[in-house]
Amino acid sequence: MPAASDASSKPVAVKIHVSTGQGMDIAWTDGHQSHYEFSYLRDRCPCAVCTGEHSIAPAAATPAAPSPLPIYKPRATVRAASAVGRYAVQFDFSDGHSTGIFSFDYLREICPCEACLAVRPSP
Ligand SMILES: [Zn+2]
Ligand SMILES: [Zn+2]
Repeated sequence: MPAASDASSKPVAVKIHVSTGQGMDIAWTDGHQSHYEFSYLRDRCPCAVCTGEHSIAPAAATPAAPSPLPIYKPRATVRAASAVGRYAVQFDFSDGHSTGIFSFDYLREICPCEACLAVRPSP
């Protein structure tokens, strides 16, 4: 019986482009490659604060903007990133948030590439 349960969620190479703001690239043991924008990661921060926020309907918080311009939302970037053991990465986001720990299991789960999107059931 093959023990391949978590083989796909181990990275062989992780590149985090903190200084250029280009996001993060991960190459996985099964040959898959993932690229994540920092803003994508910020939106999917798995910490208790953010997942709690997500469960609250945000609709009433922002009344319709009178401005004719599209609402400007600064893209989150990362000021620093650090490894958490060998299983996760922690980011210090540009909005001051730094409690989110992204395990490689989770990162593989949220891989934004077309191949993964195609097999992932939409929420
Ligand atoms: Zn968070
Ligand atoms: Zn993918």
